[in-house]
Amino acid sequence: MNYRISKQAASLSPSLTLAIDAKAKQMKADGLDVVGFGAGEPDFDTPQHIKDAAAKALAEGFTKYTPSSGIPELRQAIADKFKRDNGLSYKAAQIIVSCGGKHSCYNTILATCQAGDEAIIPAPYWLSYPEMVKLAGATPVILPTTDATEFKVTPEQLRAAITERTRLFVLNSPSNPTGGLYTPSELKALGDVCVEKGVLVMSDEIYEKLVYDGAEHGSVARFSPAHYEHTIVVHGFAKAYSMTGWRLGYLAAPEPIAKAIDAIQSHSTSNPTSFAQKGAVAALTGPQDHLGVWLAEYSKRRAYAHQRLNAMPGVSCVNAKGAFYLFPNIGRLGLKSTEFCARLLDEEKVAAVPGVAFGADDYIRISYATSMANIQKGLDRLEQFARRLAK
Ligand SMILES: *Cc1c(COP(=O)(O)O)cnc(C)c1O
Repeated sequence: MNYRISKQAASLSPSLTLAIDAKAKQMKADGLDVVGFGAGEPDFDTPQHIKDAAAKALAEGFTKYTPSSGIPELRQAIADKFKRDNGLSYKAAQIIVSCGGKHSCYNTILATCQAGDEAIIPAPYWLSYPEMVKLAGATPVILPTTDATEFKVTPEQLRAAITERTRLFVLNSPSNPTGGLYTPSELKALGDVCVEKGVLVMSDEIYEKLVYDGAEHGSVARFSPAHYEHTIVVHGFAKAYSMTGWRLGYLAAPEPIAKAIDAIQSHSTSNPTSFAQKGAVAALTGPQDHLGVWLAEYSKRRAYAHQRLNAMPGVSCVNAKGAFYLFPNIGRLGLKSTEFCARLLDEEKVAAVPGVAFGADDYIRISYATSMANIQKGLDRLEQFARRLAK
């Protein structure tokens, strides 16, 4: 039997981050002492009051279909969050609750991009964006950046990449994989270009709450009514509330786009899990003090890892301003990122993700969403590896 796979599906590369994670887990299961820097999720548990709210909803029989774009109570809590945290006014009808931030990205791209369209994606990028654009039948246009500019694109670079086919600009600040953060004035300038050229912005703000040293997260939607009208804000519960397994995210969009996404969702996934939504209401309306504790811990790990990485021969690393990743440059050690990470795992039992997965082959991604003891041990091994290669 010749199983013809559809062109869109065949064009995809399977997720390299998930593959590395699976291999490291297998090695651990085989009894090997592996240090995992591959994780794309917090190592903290979901705060108890959030779990309690979901458990209560489940016990009370809140187990049926909900409206496909989410329960009104949660959509309102999300609208209130945007008002409170970002100074953005959305009606509940502009908010769509989905099965994860990833799902919100995908639906945004499906609702706005079609064959013949281009979507501009700065690299290093979150690895799912280009694949999602391909699934929509459109063409990803990659804008490369390096550590010399802290992985930021300039308005000039963006302007030069825009053609009459450009439909969408994908912005992710704070960034996975680099930890980079645009300042409010840089964001405004990028938004200005998109407004001028009539390009929509998909602003993935899932790491909004994870910023360091008092840095400011600003949503590109907030600078003017025109910025607001050109922006779809994508968000979720995974990172700030450690709810990765709950599969719950959301977006806020101009009404016609929200309506289109509501239709997509109503014919594909339907509603995100009913009782999980009740947990999400508790997440947004309940105490937020876990965040200070987590940030203090991440901040300590980041400072330690950043200093250690820069002390290794042939390695240099700009400091992250947000999220929980560092993205060191390993190019001077003479290996491309895939071989680097494969050998690092084999020879030193350390799992990191090759930068090529994010469109940047001279780098690797280190997640510090793991204990300080693991970070210490893993970096000791990475240092030995770097010393061997530098000889
Ligand atoms: C983790 C992540 C998401 C969303 O994750 P979900 O688990 O689907 O909510 C979206 N964008 C980026 C950049 C991420 O790192």
